[in-house]
Amino acid sequence: MSDDSRDRARSPRSLSGLLPFLRPYRGRIALALTFLVLAAATTLVFPVALKSLIDQGVVSADPGARVMALREHFFALFGVGVALGVFSAARFYVVSWLGERVTADLRNAVYEHVVQQSPEFFEAAQTGEVLSRLTTDTTLVQTVVGSSLSLGLRNAVMGTGALAMLVITNPYVMTQVLGILVLVVLPSLYFGRRVRKLSRASQDRIADSSAIAAEVLNAIPVVQSHVQEQREARRFDESTERAFATAVRRSKMRALLVAFIISATFGALLWGLYQGTQAVMRGSITAGHLGQTVVYVIILVGSVAALSEVYGELLRAAGATERLMELLSLRSPIASPAQPLPLPPATGGSTLRLEHVSFRYPSRPQHAALQDVTLEVRRGETLALVGPSGAGKSTVFQLLLRFYDAQHGTIALDGVPITRIALAELRSRIGVVPQESTIFSADALDNIRYGRPEASEAEVVAAARAAHAHEFISALPQGYRSFLGERGVRLSGGQRQRIAIARAMLKNPPLLLLDEATSALDAESERMVQAALEAAMKDRTTIVIAHRLATVQRADRIVVMEEGRLVEQGTHEELLARSGLYARLAALQFGREDAVQAA
Ligand code: ADP
Repeated sequence: MSDDSRDRARSPRSLSGLLPFLRPYRGRIALALTFLVLAAATTLVFPVALKSLIDQGVVSADPGARVMALREHFFALFGVGVALGVFSAARFYVVSWLGERVTADLRNAVYEHVVQQSPEFFEAAQTGEVLSRLTTDTTLVQTVVGSSLSLGLRNAVMGTGALAMLVITNPYVMTQVLGILVLVVLPSLYFGRRVRKLSRASQDRIADSSAIAAEVLNAIPVVQSHVQEQREARRFDESTERAFATAVRRSKMRALLVAFIISATFGALLWGLYQGTQAVMRGSITAGHLGQTVVYVIILVGSVAALSEVYGELLRAAGATERLMELLSLRSPIASPAQPLPLPPATGGSTLRLEHVSFRYPSRPQHAALQDVTLEVRRGETLALVGPSGAGKSTVFQLLLRFYDAQHGTIALDGVPITRIALAELRSRIGVVPQESTIFSADALDNIRYGRPEASEAEVVAAARAAHAHEFISALPQGYRSFLGERGVRLSGGQRQRIAIARAMLKNPPLLLLDEATSALDAESERMVQAALEAAMKDRTTIVIAHRLATVQRADRIVVMEEGRLVEQGTHEELLARSGLYARLAALQFGREDAVQAA
């Protein structure tokens, strides 16, 4: 979210972004409006009923007629009261329903949109900020749709009605009062603009502190191991204080606005009322007339005060809506082609071809992560990528999966450039076993069939067996139904890897991308993982970022990378014989491993 978009003046017009979310509920909105107008109309009838009560029931000369009239008038007033109660309740229910529904829809729409963004989006936007959009901003929208808007409309209807009645019943005085009211409105607009700016700023500060919290909570072990809890708490504290200070400034501004509007309005109307009492004393209007006028005046003042409050709410929600719309209008730079080409069947593995591929990460445009990489991978081949850290090995995977698009060159899967393949189809052809396996908070069954939720239990067990995970899963307290992840069974590194391998095998992709774990496992785990990998590589094309001697020895071909370029290719023996970069790396990395394994 750029700075200039933050500074742009907010206006309630931004709320129109909500229209598409309101449209499906036209019927409900019409219903809400009906109840709203009915309730407002009932309120406006009340002073009329009061006038006849005073003029006919209280002031009337004949005592007998007075008692009867009084009773009737009270029944009429009660009727008005009940109608008001029923209509208000109906309005409240329908409007609250709308608020909750629209907010839920909005939240879902934003979330669905965000999860489709490419990794580039998540590099630039902090997850905490996105979370704050999803919670704080949508809640603001909820207050508006679910209450402020209807409150505003109701008060607008009532205020206008009361004003109209006042002008009709006291034309001369009210014309003067209206003139004074115009003088109140103009300065209010100025205050309103200030409040608007501060509202946006305040929301942004809250998003800032959410971002800090999200970052720290994700790295608690690091924070605690460095004993930085206090400092992090302080950092959050400072950020919350900044949010508080901004909120206070906003509230001050709004309080001023409200004070001004209310006192000025009161002054104007009291002046009108004073004229009214004079008129009763002169005998030019009745006491009932004055009573009716007083109630209309109270309604009008109440409406104006409520409207000024509501306006503030609307402005806050306008800012929130605008930020949500910004999020919704983002287009991921990685999108499926409009007319995707079909992929030929890939039995026995895929073929892959990189031609003169050069790539720079959008966040580091001055640094070439890959430079002029040309590489062909045959059907069923196992290719090991080797090279020092930062050589660009993982970047190759990122490009194959189209998390990013290369700036130069083409990548073709089974003969079709990957930018011409439907994104879902491309990714369904590729299985990934990452270095750090993600285990979701779900049971073992669902964890393994994450990429193919429709897979049967038998298929899951078969994949787990092939990945040498069946044994340890069966030994868990509830077997495949055991809950894994944060609030479940904690698995060892090797077990997590085997779950990830089973997950990839269940998907049965023609192309498998393996990022071998760098961390050492105990000998038993190591053996199991190697066996699982061996099974996973069968009958498919595999590219593996290799850190293990066993893996490079098994590979059909080894490609050595350095600083984004391919520098050597060949088998383990061929490359050792060349005494180049590979020989040096192998001596460093596998030499030690050999020693460990021999020991
Ligand atoms: P390897 O997997 O061989 O260790 P990578 O492919 O991860 O290397 O990285 C290649 C280069 O790209 C490195 O210089 C690294 O710092 C950089 N790089 C990797 N990921 C990103 C990213 N998301 N944004 C910017 N630069 C990155």
